[in-house]
Amino acid sequence: MSGPTVYTYAKSNPVSRQDPFGLSPQDIQNAVATLGGLYPNLVNGLQIGTLPPFLDDSSIGGRYFPGTRHIEIQDKYCSKQNLTQQEKDELLELIAHETLHLYLDDQVGPLTQLFSTTDYHTWVLTTASDILNYVRYNAITPPPSLNTYPR
Ligand SMILES: [Zn+2]
Repeated sequence: MSGPTVYTYAKSNPVSRQDPFGLSPQDIQNAVATLGGLYPNLVNGLQIGTLPPFLDDSSIGGRYFPGTRHIEIQDKYCSKQNLTQQEKDELLELIAHETLHLYLDDQVGPLTQLFSTTDYHTWVLTTASDILNYVRYNAITPPPSLNTYPR
């Protein structure tokens, strides 16, 4: 499995303005590798970008784009050199969360989650949290099944 495509929005840093693509922060690679070790399909072809500035300072941790393999996450996970363990945990849970939305798109159809009263988002939140608990604390065994989504 090759690593995900990671890019960041060009900000004031001239280097990233010249070359906003191709960044591969190690913590992101690690989180994706961990997730892919459990659920290869979740990270297959995944593209990870940073949120545009108007969203980056909000409470949004990330977002996904229905029908694509593209998610965006807060810039701090890309630009900080050494994430704390808590930030690494947040990052893993965040990538799990957004890729679980993409997974649901594949299972139930793009946009179905957004317009359905079925509580897909609760499933995404719970499953992402369970994945983190499995990986980090071994509090859950075996790894959470992805076949438990609402139908
Ligand atoms: Zn969500």
